[in-house]
Amino acid sequence: MYVLVVNAGSSSLKYQLFDMDGEKLIAKGNADRIGIDGVLEHQVIGRDKTKTPVPLPDHAAAIKTVLSTLVDKDAGCLDSISQISAVGHRIVHGGPWLTHPVMVTDESVADLEKCMLLAPLHTKGHLQGIEGCRKAMPGVPQVLVIDTSFHSTMPPKAYTYPIDWDTAQRNYVRRYGFHGTSHRYVSGVANEYLDVPADKSKIITCHIGNGSSITAVQGGKCIDTSMGFTPLDGIIMGSRCGAVDPAIVPHIMEAEHISPDEMADWMNKKCGLLGVSGVSSDMRNVRRAIEEGNERARLAVDILVYEIKKFIGGYTAAMNGLDCLVFTAGIGENDELVRSEVCRDMEFFGIKIDEEKNLAWRSLPVPGDISAPDSRAKVFVIATNEELMIARDTVAMCSMA
Ligand code: AMP
Repeated sequence: MYVLVVNAGSSSLKYQLFDMDGEKLIAKGNADRIGIDGVLEHQVIGRDKTKTPVPLPDHAAAIKTVLSTLVDKDAGCLDSISQISAVGHRIVHGGPWLTHPVMVTDESVADLEKCMLLAPLHTKGHLQGIEGCRKAMPGVPQVLVIDTSFHSTMPPKAYTYPIDWDTAQRNYVRRYGFHGTSHRYVSGVANEYLDVPADKSKIITCHIGNGSSITAVQGGKCIDTSMGFTPLDGIIMGSRCGAVDPAIVPHIMEAEHISPDEMADWMNKKCGLLGVSGVSSDMRNVRRAIEEGNERARLAVDILVYEIKKFIGGYTAAMNGLDCLVFTAGIGENDELVRSEVCRDMEFFGIKIDEEKNLAWRSLPVPGDISAPDSRAKVFVIATNEELMIARDTVAMCSMA
């Protein structure tokens, strides 16, 4: 069974084609600069990547171009579009309305439209991607897989902000959490390798990338997560500030004469590693600056490590224990120094890593077990795979339909 996973943003449509008999990735790419000048990046796995300018006036044109590329004699990998049995859409925000994977129907699309209130840019892109697929592939079942849904099991004490009740309710303000598909995937893999039964395990998953979030997963269910009403909450990120004293917001707006939109832009794009280091939002550049003796770059990474440690401590307390700590995403998978610094002086929490294994985790079998033999908690490095998770959910939904 072939499943096309689509991640539609406002001006891009990323895709991955899986053969789910064996869960093999067959092709992937990105129809980018939709509505601008149009570029198609495409790769059949095992062959070279291509980058071709193509007119992409809208999302329907983008998906048509992707489909015709997938069946192209030279660039493609399918004999016919009819080989694609289903489409899975990545949805960033389901709000309180979408808390499980659902088939694309008029009702579920109407629920997704409500999410325009909470995540207008992402939701607009998703709706256009879905509409484009419905037009280009009529009759092919489509599934919405929602990033926030993994966090819908949080108890009220974790998702309720201590603000005026009625105002919060009127405006749907609560912690939703993000990166849920990634946290679900890596905690699921971790559970397969722990000695503790999955319905009893206590896992902390650290998705540390350009955007970062940390989640406490108890018995396979999310009980708390660091991102909140928006992906701005939680720890320091590439260019996002994470949680700060809320009084800073009106203070800076008044002092710098900036509007709410400008303030939101500043918190999303000018802060985090970039804001503190003054160098870059990209960890590789920040690391280079540290090697050159840049003290603000060092401070930015010190803040990152310190905040991850504090979340680990907090979530270990919340779960009354820890069986496993998982690192994933761009920094979590690639930056051995962050893993090493986070796990240093954490014996109190039962965390101790083997530094040699930490350096060479890619040569270890899944789940990338880098814990020292005397570590009470396991420490795993697991490459995330949100697209595979979406493809699996799509297969599961289609088999129930
Ligand atoms: P993601 O958002 O998961 O794609 O992660 C992006 C982040 O991972 C960026 O800050 C990158 O600099 C960082 N990253 C990727 N490769 C490395 C590496 N080899 N060492 C350190 N950071 C890396």
